[in-house]
Amino acid sequence: MNLNLIAVLGGGQMGSGIAQVFAQSGFKTVIYDLATSALEASRKGISKNLDRAVEKGRLSAEDREAVLARLTWTSNLADLAESDLVVEAIIEKLETKFQTWKQVDELCRPTTIFASNTSSLPITQLAGGVSHPERFIGMHFMNPVPVMQLVEIIRGYMTSDAVYQATFDLAKTLNKVPVTVEDSAGFISNRILMPMINEAIFCLHEGIATKDDIDTVMKLGMNHPMGPLTLADFIGLDTCLFIMEVLYRDFADSKYRPCPLLRKMVQAGQLGRKTGAGFYTYETAAKAVAAK
Ligand code: NAD
Repeated sequence: MNLNLIAVLGGGQMGSGIAQVFAQSGFKTVIYDLATSALEASRKGISKNLDRAVEKGRLSAEDREAVLARLTWTSNLADLAESDLVVEAIIEKLETKFQTWKQVDELCRPTTIFASNTSSLPITQLAGGVSHPERFIGMHFMNPVPVMQLVEIIRGYMTSDAVYQATFDLAKTLNKVPVTVEDSAGFISNRILMPMINEAIFCLHEGIATKDDIDTVMKLGMNHPMGPLTLADFIGLDTCLFIMEVLYRDFADSKYRPCPLLRKMVQAGQLGRKTGAGFYTYETAAKAVAAK
């Protein structure tokens, strides 16, 4: 596969991370976002990550410059026209993704591969909106992308073997570990992770233990690097709720019922780190402080 230009749709936390990883692997990469503030934050965020890598001796100053030189940021969709691969990481809303893919489909060459980083939406359904569904695939990166090794490669019903193999091999080129998953709600990662988080929220909701103790059980008892409530704050409670709703709807099984406390916190705008408060409160985006 000849990849002269990679386009990343969405310059939020995932899109920026994905673009950084592509650029660090030698690919010319353009990041597209509607919001210029998101593009500015993306540029600053990637620069800061690279600065930190230089400080820690993991990247030379020359390589930092080379990585930045491979990146461009744009709010003009036409700049994506020549891309060979488009990786979409815009907000998790079916209609918005559909609309954006339609525009990209009209713009790009018929040979361009389309990959979605969706956490929960069916790849087959997203692929149904473009003219070459055999070129559409799921590439589900983990957060933070430059750090986490896993990429779930999700084959839609129409995804061709060639596109699947090329995407799987590409993930390895990015120094990631790809895992193949059939198109099913939550894939593997969120089908297992989200019900665990939801159950932790039920434990809190039912007064079984304090939030700190629930997190401590999973950290010290199961050797998880962070407790499920801390992790939920990190992911965003709105995202957790959205994924639980997808699981509940798609499997029509009551075991995926979102916890009422999760729903209530989302209604109250307590979304976790990004709003400064969730199960814990946060002084800054980077530093968590347990609310006592
Ligand atoms: P985010 O809110 O940080 O970023 C989303 C970006 O999309 C924003 O910058 C927004 O301006 C932009 N956007 C919205 N509508 C757009 C449009 N029509 N055209 C162009 N840009 C648009 O969200 P995120 O956490 O980066 O998540 C992005 C995607 O990645 C979602 O599909 C999410 O489910 C998935 N994902 C998230 C995580 C996670 O832990 N956050 C992990 C894996 C996958």
